[in-house]
Amino acid sequence: MAKRVYLFNEGNKDDRELLGGKGANLCEMTSMGLPVPFGFIITTDTCREYFHAGNKLPGLLEQEYRVALDMVEKKMGARFGDPSNPLLFSVRSGAPVSMPGMMNTILNLGLNDEIAAGLAEKTGNARFAYDSYRRFISMFADVVMGVPGEKFEHEIEQYKQANGKELDVDMTAEDWQAIIAIYKTIVDFPEDPFTQLKMAVEAVFQSWHTPRAIFYREMNNIADTLGTAVNVQAMVFGNFGEDSGSGVAFTRNPSTGERQFFGEILFNAAGEDVVAGIRTPLPVEALKERMPEVYDELYRTQELLEKHYRDMQDMEFTIQQGRFYMLQTRSGKRTGRAAVKIAVEMVGENLITEGEALMRVSPEHVEAFLHPTVDPRAKKDIVATGLPASPGGATGEIVFSAEEAEEVAKAGRPVILVRRETTPEDIHGMKVAAGILTELGGMTSHAAVVARGMGVCAITGCGSLSINYADGIATTEDGVEMKRGDTITLDGTSGEVMLGDIPKAEASSSDDFQTLLSWADKHRRLKVRANAETPEDAAKAIELGAEGIGLCRTEHMFFEAERIEKMRAMILSETKKERKKYLKELRKFQRDDMFELFKVMDGLPVTIRLLDPPLHEFLPHGEDDMQALAKAVDKPVEKVREITESLSEVNPMLGFRGCRLSIMFPEITEMQVQAIMSAAADAVEAGYKAMPEIMIPLVVNVREIRMITEIIDKGVQKVLRERLVSVPYKVGTMMETPRATLGADRLAPEVEFMSFGTNDLTQMTYGFSRDDVGKFIPSYIEKKLVEDDPFVTLDQRAVGRLMEMAVSESRKVKKGIKYGICGEHGGDPRSIRFCHNLGLDYVSCSPFRVPIARIAAAQAHVEQQDD
Ligand code: PEP
Ligand code: MG
Repeated sequence: MAKRVYLFNEGNKDDRELLGGKGANLCEMTSMGLPVPFGFIITTDTCREYFHAGNKLPGLLEQEYRVALDMVEKKMGARFGDPSNPLLFSVRSGAPVSMPGMMNTILNLGLNDEIAAGLAEKTGNARFAYDSYRRFISMFADVVMGVPGEKFEHEIEQYKQANGKELDVDMTAEDWQAIIAIYKTIVDFPEDPFTQLKMAVEAVFQSWHTPRAIFYREMNNIADTLGTAVNVQAMVFGNFGEDSGSGVAFTRNPSTGERQFFGEILFNAAGEDVVAGIRTPLPVEALKERMPEVYDELYRTQELLEKHYRDMQDMEFTIQQGRFYMLQTRSGKRTGRAAVKIAVEMVGENLITEGEALMRVSPEHVEAFLHPTVDPRAKKDIVATGLPASPGGATGEIVFSAEEAEEVAKAGRPVILVRRETTPEDIHGMKVAAGILTELGGMTSHAAVVARGMGVCAITGCGSLSINYADGIATTEDGVEMKRGDTITLDGTSGEVMLGDIPKAEASSSDDFQTLLSWADKHRRLKVRANAETPEDAAKAIELGAEGIGLCRTEHMFFEAERIEKMRAMILSETKKERKKYLKELRKFQRDDMFELFKVMDGLPVTIRLLDPPLHEFLPHGEDDMQALAKAVDKPVEKVREITESLSEVNPMLGFRGCRLSIMFPEITEMQVQAIMSAAADAVEAGYKAMPEIMIPLVVNVREIRMITEIIDKGVQKVLRERLVSVPYKVGTMMETPRATLGADRLAPEVEFMSFGTNDLTQMTYGFSRDDVGKFIPSYIEKKLVEDDPFVTLDQRAVGRLMEMAVSESRKVKKGIKYGICGEHGGDPRSIRFCHNLGLDYVSCSPFRVPIARIAAAQAHVEQQDD
């Protein structure tokens, strides 16, 4: 039997898997000699054992933790269940991966009537003893026995009203005793401390399966199988009096990343009060004034912890009667800007390496550099100001609950979620919100921490608002009413709340971000290209670091007003001659567009894909449009209808599209090749280095490639001979049908590059229509029939396997083929890691994802080297 219970002096920070993150760090701090109230941890293995046994605690567990408990008693000089010298415990969850506030906590465990009286006597502080007792009863009832917490809050409110009390601090020991008497009519909780402990341990295990914990895991890709540890720790009290307090601190500013100790404190308050955001805390500097030695100890501790962990720490501390205790330390959640700044500066401080810095930045962090910000020059109607909890600008419609947020967001309208404070139950609404605004809570409140983690703009502690949920109105101090459905703008960087839709400026970069990206480029092997058709997108891609175009979908160039007319006329042509006439006109557009692209991409490869979609996608379907088209192409409307109908298909995605178009209408391909090569020749003559790569879509066999390559080569040679210029060009194929991947060895001799079109490849491997999956994929994910949406994150098991086979089989036949990916997965970090490991040469993604892809590619390389 494996050891199930560890004392705080028996583990260290590397034991996260077994002891959970919180427990491992409590052990580490204990061994560093920091003042940690002693305790023990029940392992995550035990949690899994509990689930396997059908939610039954192992028979010997109680015996095992009682031994540990004896040791804790000895160390703390107090006894659990002893009224004359009581020891109380906090019982908390602690998963291997941090899930802040997602699971259950029970504080002040070990109290009953007799012990509370004993605590009052021993401490000489009856108010504290009964305040702790009433907190324990409501928490235990809520978390362990399932009695809703609001019931208890409601009783306190009623009591306060009836007795002329306003705040908690107005409540005396007698008041709390009266409350306890009322509580006991609501809940019959166990008086025996050991029974309490056993029930609490079970409740923590079970909290792994609460809907909010499951939702959080799904959102953050945390494995369901990990389970949680249980931390049982001696209580210390921040609510003992004015020389006590609780606080949260960060070793650097979690919002900006500045190297500046940053924290908040509430005097005479329990830790839960700070985190819950019920009172707005003071800056930690208030401690410096009140208890300078304690402040110094806190300051020294944070310095020590940051050096030790080599990362920004988020710490919880308590002061009991002037004595300082550390309750927790963990890597702090941070905004994207902060993450990058901290990572880059820590390299400068010789704390971490460039590789480590890269690994510390997540795709969400990078996105923060790409978020819009409220234009500082815009005219603003500022109606309230709160704490700038999470940066970025957001505009949306006011909603007052997470449910409403989901509803409105589903309807496609951006929402601002306005709450008095948020709790983990609100997560699903926060996730879909463009911005979050709360009346209560500080920079470390739930709303602030969660919004920062999600990269959602948020303002907390906006105390000048008064929110009326029932009527759906938030009123400012000046009497301005903001109603459900009104549009407001939040500036999460300044904390300002504004009426209406305020213009937002494009996201801006920073020197630190550029430094990090330059390290990414140094530490990656995969090249990153962009999917782009317009010169604007191509320029953006270059600005964001793209090293070429990996996919130019030429059909996009034909959708604009004047062009679509010519395109339609070409499609409706009844003779080759007629079609050629329109193709000639289209060629001009195509040539001009390509010329611009070659100019922007000077010296970089531009992969141009031949026309791909089914032709009927270009045609109108409504009667009016049909009439107009008939007129434009000078044909009877019946004819137009007849041709349109003849082009319609039962399964268009598997129909007349891709290279099948080139086979049936070689003149279309001839036009495209001529346009591409004339543009390239013009670019070369104008002093640019054009590097076209012509790509054939939706190939299933080598004969298609041969036939189309012949058309391409002929066209290329014709232009080059006429123009007498030399243009380096390549011909390659998309790999987007299962048959192509399975027959890659046959295709290899005919091509110079292969680019995986994983959108179609996923569609055809799964048999899931890429345009219709929305109807069932969310349920598939929820029911765990698939882990992720395969159109977002590459399915490595099957689609990845096809890719792997294609690469290895084709390599055996021909060396020097370039391999890339241009499906949407090319911008997904997990898929990028797979592509790196597969040995592809490049990924290609939308321009805004290029920075993320550069970093993800570097992370894949660093990770591989570490292995
Ligand atoms: C693909 O199928 O992955 C691809 C890139 O092509 P498209 O999305 O244009 O079909
Ligand atoms: Mg495709």
